[in-house]
Amino acid sequence: MQVPAARIVFPEADRAEIASLTSEILASGALTLGAHTREFEASFAAAHGLPFAVAVSSGTAALEIILRGLDVAGSDVVVPTNTFAATGFAVLRAGANLVLADVDSKTFALSAATVAAALTPRTRAVVLVHIGGLITPEIDDIRTLCDERGVLLVEDAAHAHGSSHDGRYAGSFGVAGAFSFYPTKVVTSGEGGMILTADERLRDEALIFRDQGKAGFLGNVHIKQGYAWRLSELHAVTGLVHLRRLAGFLDVRSGVAARYNAGLDDIDGLDPILVKTGGRSNFYKYLVLPRPGIDRTRLKKELKERHGVSLSGEVYEAPLHQQPVFEPYARGSLPVAEDVCARHVCLPVHSDMTEAEVDHVLASLAAAVETLTMRI
Ligand SMILES: *Cc1c(COP(=O)(O)O)cnc(C)c1O
Repeated sequence: MQVPAARIVFPEADRAEIASLTSEILASGALTLGAHTREFEASFAAAHGLPFAVAVSSGTAALEIILRGLDVAGSDVVVPTNTFAATGFAVLRAGANLVLADVDSKTFALSAATVAAALTPRTRAVVLVHIGGLITPEIDDIRTLCDERGVLLVEDAAHAHGSSHDGRYAGSFGVAGAFSFYPTKVVTSGEGGMILTADERLRDEALIFRDQGKAGFLGNVHIKQGYAWRLSELHAVTGLVHLRRLAGFLDVRSGVAARYNAGLDDIDGLDPILVKTGGRSNFYKYLVLPRPGIDRTRLKKELKERHGVSLSGEVYEAPLHQQPVFEPYARGSLPVAEDVCARHVCLPVHSDMTEAEVDHVLASLAAAVETLTMRI
């Protein structure tokens, strides 16, 4: 049996519906910023219990627009060093100074303590990244700390479609949340992104920024330095149809995670990252920390070559302060991120994964760990 690293799930009925809607859009000539985009925005906002959503061309654009709307230029913005490069790029492109902070070893995300250690009198915002879809149980403490220090909290929720904590969804804990619809994410539109917020002023700013800084779609008065950050109607219908699957996808993914939890109990040397939260992760990633001494590269090679199991990409393989492009923003060691980034692996989780596939991954892991520890 082969288990791929990722599988993008568009059931036949969805593909047919998207094809038919695409044909209608092409016939209508209304190819961008139309009714389908507005419907996608309304559905995405409703699915996360928030009043406003703005669809944009990517998750990176969503982050940059939020940060521009919050006027961070010239100030410090705290970002976890364990994140995708896009989080750092968005901060820099919005004109802010990037301050990289360490993460917690249990959640792989910022904690109240790592945020506190990174705040300066010039900090205007903190970007919290819900790594692997998990909303840290420290979220309320982080929010309180930000409020006390007069700092805005922004969520990079690119991993966290539909994830919740204490009955609230990703995107609702800070002033705004940025989501991505890149193909590997839990909901995809091919390419695309979404801004969620309860702040009407920020929503209005985002509408202006995404369309070349124009005061309105039909006019030609440019009041801000915007960009071509629109989402096309073709992408919007793809995302809209995919979004309807979200609840079902989350059920499958929780089932996969529960089966991994139980199976990993019997495998010595592999510790799942299990965090008790008052909510639900979408299990964008299922994180496992092999004990020191089990080499990640060898484990992945063994799983792929001998068992046909491809692990999914790490989150992340290396922290930003160790990436060449972010060298100017590196200020010494951030030891927890360095350790978890170097060691962890992500088991495959697909929105249509079968129990037989999960069991094959578990059996392969057991065999691979045994082979690797025998050779030591
Ligand atoms: C995918 C991702 C992004 C960027 O999203 P795009 O849609 O690819 O621009 C930003 N942050 C994180 C954490 C991501 O995983």
